[in-house]
Amino acid sequence: MSCHHGEVEKRLGVCNLCEAICGLELTVEDGHVTSIRGNPDDPLSRGHICPKGVALADVHDDPDRLRRPVERVGSGPDAQWVEISWDEALDRTADGLAAAVNGHGRDALGVYLGNPNVHSLGAQTHGVGMLKTFRTRNKFSAGSVDQVPHQLVAWLLFGHQLLIPIPDIDRTSYFLVFGANPMASNGSLMTVPDFPNRLRELTARGGRMVVLDPRRTETAKVADEHHFIRPATDAVVLLSMVRELFEQGLTCVPSYVEGIESVRLAVADFTPEHAEEVSGVPAHEIRRITRDFATADGAAAYGRVGVSTQGFGSVCQWAIQCLNILSGNFDREGGVLFTEPAVDIVGKRIVGAGHRDVWRSRVRGAPELAGELPVSILREEIETPGEGQIRAVLTVAGNPVLSTPDGRSLGAALGSLDFMAAVDLYVNETTRHADVILPPTTALERDQYDLVFHALAVRNTARFTPAVLDKPEGAMDDWEIFREIALRTAARLDRRKPLAKALRERARLSVSPRAIVTGLLLAGRRTTMRALRANPAGVDLGPLRPTMPARLQTRDRLIHLAPDIVLADLPRLRAATEQRRADELVLIGRRHQRDNNSWMHNSERLTRGRPRHQLLMHPDDLTSRGLTDGSQVRVSSRVGEVVTEVRGTDEMMPGVVSLPHGYGHQVEGVRMDNATKVPGVSINDLTDPERLDMSGNAAFNGTPVAVEPV
Ligand code: SF4
Repeated sequence: MSCHHGEVEKRLGVCNLCEAICGLELTVEDGHVTSIRGNPDDPLSRGHICPKGVALADVHDDPDRLRRPVERVGSGPDAQWVEISWDEALDRTADGLAAAVNGHGRDALGVYLGNPNVHSLGAQTHGVGMLKTFRTRNKFSAGSVDQVPHQLVAWLLFGHQLLIPIPDIDRTSYFLVFGANPMASNGSLMTVPDFPNRLRELTARGGRMVVLDPRRTETAKVADEHHFIRPATDAVVLLSMVRELFEQGLTCVPSYVEGIESVRLAVADFTPEHAEEVSGVPAHEIRRITRDFATADGAAAYGRVGVSTQGFGSVCQWAIQCLNILSGNFDREGGVLFTEPAVDIVGKRIVGAGHRDVWRSRVRGAPELAGELPVSILREEIETPGEGQIRAVLTVAGNPVLSTPDGRSLGAALGSLDFMAAVDLYVNETTRHADVILPPTTALERDQYDLVFHALAVRNTARFTPAVLDKPEGAMDDWEIFREIALRTAARLDRRKPLAKALRERARLSVSPRAIVTGLLLAGRRTTMRALRANPAGVDLGPLRPTMPARLQTRDRLIHLAPDIVLADLPRLRAATEQRRADELVLIGRRHQRDNNSWMHNSERLTRGRPRHQLLMHPDDLTSRGLTDGSQVRVSSRVGEVVTEVRGTDEMMPGVVSLPHGYGHQVEGVRMDNATKVPGVSINDLTDPERLDMSGNAAFNGTPVAVEPV
């Protein structure tokens, strides 16, 4: 596929930045990407592209991006980064990780996987394999600051953590949205590229979208109805809606669902009047929305990051599925349905079904979920002495200093480690603490098949994308780095694995991602690698369709709708509701279309224009605190304080303020030169690692704060 001098070629690619997995058409001149547009022939994304996709090559061309492994010499602001060879970098990494394990046991090694791992085929096929060879219990990922409540509820109700009901957006007539902003995000745990057009189609066929959110988001602005809801009170509103289904005789439940009476009793005291008092959503609106939802010709309830990242995220996700199931909208066209992907990561157990509380964290006793501990506890596991203390950390494509609660303190803890290595493209707020950074090829230089997002998409499609650009001489793909770290670390351990097992691991880690996908497609029998190579835009496998009860992964093929551990969380919800102070100011996050969590801030074209880092606040709240629009304010929480600019807007519900997440790049010694010019503070210098959902997810939303003039 080499590109000869002077050649202009069109190549098909895929955007790896968000869950929408848009198909791209790239113009490549002399080996450089000169333009990117959406691929109209892609059966899922249909030509859609957002500003981030247009800027995708900015990462590849970024002069600040690491192209060779580097070693840190010195520390703090005086740190120097010196290029070293791959062999040296991999050996140093293996030495450091193995030393921690040999000296202090396997749990002395902590691993953090950032969000981009799920967007890389090599990380999916080989990152997990690497983790297995480490056998540490101290595994963390961005999942616990994002979506683990969905996974917990999917495992409890449907028998697999990734068997998540997907709104049938192309046929629904009523889309009920809690705490999600697909106009900015193009969906999450609902891969829905081209959401704006799909919404237009929904409206054109007479459908409605109803949004509950503490901010009048981009999605709320185009909804048929938007209702302000006080942050972190969604659970109470959702439970009152479930109650209303029973009260109004609107239930219609399939035979494979049991535990309905337990649900009815559990929600009996969550009246709409109580919900109004707590959330600000009028009781009569709760009753009407519930009736409209249940009587629509195909309705889908959906809640995303706004409801997942709060203290009762799992209760919210459970209640949302109760609404879908009890109203007869589960496994129904126009309601919510399961996908049937070409690579069935669920049915074929390519991803494990899930488990919870098989072990607990050492310091706080937090239960694991599907093999991971909440990242909110990472800092205490590094700082608290004793057996099992984390001494060495490996991060992969993550920036938890900006993206997890009390990130500033986590950064200080990372600085105290015996050893840290990072697989990453950048020196950033987190990786600057590493001793070694190993940069993989960029997404444009690697093959891609979306193992996870096809399984969460609003339509069944499949697409294999060969690398768009040649791999430069002396570069390594992420999967090759994982293989080498795993094998070299294993070879240095005092407690070696039996030879046969070690050879099996070596063989498994040496198969390329492309070969693995070829095999998985064969096993799935819905399409083949040959067909995908012949149709690089993607193969359409049709709309979602009813699959129940055969698709259930529970042992008895029943849905047990009233899981004990969810019901056991309701007393905590009642107590939290009672303790709530009505005059308290609370903080929520937000996402912008031109940001991708904590990255893409090094792209000039994505960061120029009107600043968008400000603290948003309702004008009445400004006035009552004697603040003026555009002034500097001090925002403080239990954990810390930041100083930033405030902007008055009636987009915000009174009593609620918002900061975007992923900002706050002003750290000395960071090589992301442009990013450090992006103004703004980190919301996670305010969020609190003590506030967790029962799933272990960080409860970002609803953080109590005070705002005062500087
Ligand atoms: S919506 Fe934007 S960021 Fe997401 S996959 Fe599509 S082009 Fe990429």
